[in-house]
Amino acid sequence: MIVLKFGGSSVASATAMSRVLDIVEQAAAKDRVVLISSAISGCTDALIQIGKAEDPEHMINSLRDRHIAIINRLFTGTERAEAIADCRNIFTEIRCIPPVIEAFGELLSTRILARKLACEGVKVKWLDSRDLVRTAPGSGSAGGPVDLEFTYAAIRDAIAASPNAKVFVAPGFIARDTNGAVTTLGRGGSDYTASLYAAALQADDLQIWTDVPGIMTANPKVAPAARTIPEISYRAAFDMARHGAKVLYAPAVEPAMRCGIAIGIRNTFDPANPGTVISDRRAVVREWKGVSSLDDPDGCTTHICLTGEGPSAGDAAAARRISTALRDAGIQPLGEVNCDDGDNCFIKVRTNVARNAVAAIHREFFEERALSTIEVYVAGYGAVGKALKAIVDGCEGQFPAAGKRVVIKEISSDHGFAEHVLQKARSRSVFVDCTDSVDIWKHFVQMLQAGINIVCSNRRSLAIPFVDYAAIKAAAAQNGCFFRYDTTVGNALPILQSISDGAGIGDGVTQIEAVVSCTLNYIITHYHAGQGDSFATLIRRAQAEGLTEPDPRFDLGGRDVLRKLLILSREAGVPLEEKDVKISPMLGPEYFEGGVEDFYRLLDANEDKFAQREKELKAKGLRQRFVATMKRDATGSKAEISMQLVGIDSPFYWIDGTENVTVIHSEESYPLVIKGSGEGAHLAASGIIRNILQ
Ligand code: ASP
Ligand code: MG
Repeated sequence: MIVLKFGGSSVASATAMSRVLDIVEQAAAKDRVVLISSAISGCTDALIQIGKAEDPEHMINSLRDRHIAIINRLFTGTERAEAIADCRNIFTEIRCIPPVIEAFGELLSTRILARKLACEGVKVKWLDSRDLVRTAPGSGSAGGPVDLEFTYAAIRDAIAASPNAKVFVAPGFIARDTNGAVTTLGRGGSDYTASLYAAALQADDLQIWTDVPGIMTANPKVAPAARTIPEISYRAAFDMARHGAKVLYAPAVEPAMRCGIAIGIRNTFDPANPGTVISDRRAVVREWKGVSSLDDPDGCTTHICLTGEGPSAGDAAAARRISTALRDAGIQPLGEVNCDDGDNCFIKVRTNVARNAVAAIHREFFEERALSTIEVYVAGYGAVGKALKAIVDGCEGQFPAAGKRVVIKEISSDHGFAEHVLQKARSRSVFVDCTDSVDIWKHFVQMLQAGINIVCSNRRSLAIPFVDYAAIKAAAAQNGCFFRYDTTVGNALPILQSISDGAGIGDGVTQIEAVVSCTLNYIITHYHAGQGDSFATLIRRAQAEGLTEPDPRFDLGGRDVLRKLLILSREAGVPLEEKDVKISPMLGPEYFEGGVEDFYRLLDANEDKFAQREKELKAKGLRQRFVATMKRDATGSKAEISMQLVGIDSPFYWIDGTENVTVIHSEESYPLVIKGSGEGAHLAASGIIRNILQ
């Protein structure tokens, strides 16, 4: 069984009714059909006026004439005479002013439709919804809650009583209460009638035919760029309808939903358009569906509802976006955005600005043309990868200041991910390396040749032989792609960009001095603070906090700083190789023999010596710093990494914890000193995002 419901404008004229009959006959070729119809458009309103008028004669006549005009165009001969007689009979009833006069429009329209189908040879049966849909007594014309048990049984019996009928036609909206009085299902209630018939009959399909192309992201009269929502959940459709989307009467959702019957919202004037399907068949992903608005009973305020589907992780971000969108449109909301129900966000505005507010919110959430989309593939799902995802999720990928939208297509720590991305990623997408892989860089040239940009926070991918480094840079330049790696030294600090372009010193760099080992800075500054922890204890703590490699000697030996120095120097145009750098580790060679536990034992054995030395240095006003230096002049360059003793006049003297300091000297100006936090996944991730958007 298929239930088809047509709204007032779908049956507003003879031409419109003919369209309806075409749709019904096509459906009837496949299955039995229940056709539910509204009154012809404007009829219910007119009837309400008639009910209130002192002298309704004129209005009654003009409404009757509208119906007779339709009949005259649809029928000839005796059929026409019979249809007109039928119509006049109903109008006689109306003249007697029954208590619920507005319910009669549906009787008129459906009698005409049923008669016309019969004329065309369809086996049709008109059903009187007054006998089938039962409500509790209500207040005013609308009845109380529907007695589902009675209603469903009555509908089933009525259908069973006419086994030969192919099409049943029934009026929407009208019902009868338990006292026998005619009632309605409330304004717009024909949708509900249809849903009740569908649920009673366990219909395969419920289609609500109207005059718009489905449920739209907003009222297109308010937001001209509004578009049809192809699929929506029952809940979201219900919420949109409840909060002002006029296309559907909210109570109609539930009966169909309970039986799992999909509701199609279709356009009678464009029957080929699939419209909107309301069901729960879709996989649930977070997605904003539409924006609706409803004037409050006070007549001066309007509440606007942005409806979403799926897990509500981004609601704080959504609230911010709404506030900003309104502010940018010069609209002052009344109160805060409320996203408490987890599905919808509400905001109240003055009614005179409501249309502008809806348009602004629609622009922000549904008109993405202004933001260009960047597809991102992230290799590495450690602390940085997770932080990156959290930032993107937190703002729903929207970076309006940069005019861009970031979509993380995939994120993975899998070994073969780089190759997978090469197969899959589109040109202009961005590959992010936040792994600690030593060989992932071997895919970079190929990626750049495929038009894939690269953002890298993995310094192992840069500290490679200079020829390879140069080949990657060349591939980027030749293919018009970017290869950015600002977070490889000093995390989110603007060090590399200052060397390459920011400070305009580029090739003029004569010297770089960098205290950029977070691990060593942490250990050294804490030891200096003298809280009583031994040197070994602090190294263990740094290790526990994830500041070191599994073997902390890797950091103590200066390897990580070496990588950073290579990157810094190359950025300044010096083709430095590892072997060019002289490293004097902070500890003697005996510490680098044996296993990690031997190492800690040796440290403990020498703790007194360390403490003694720290004491002496303190007395002299000196501090130890592990400094990487690259110097160059006309004759060449020199690079080294060593422990230095610095006094209070050194920029390296005041450092706390994992702070980094880099000093860039150039011929023309005073040294540039860049100091700040060199650690933290969130900072690294924000640096990566800056590189992506830049
Ligand atoms: N004709 C009724 C109304 O205008 C019911 C409906 O159209 O759904 O409210
Ligand atoms: Mg309607």
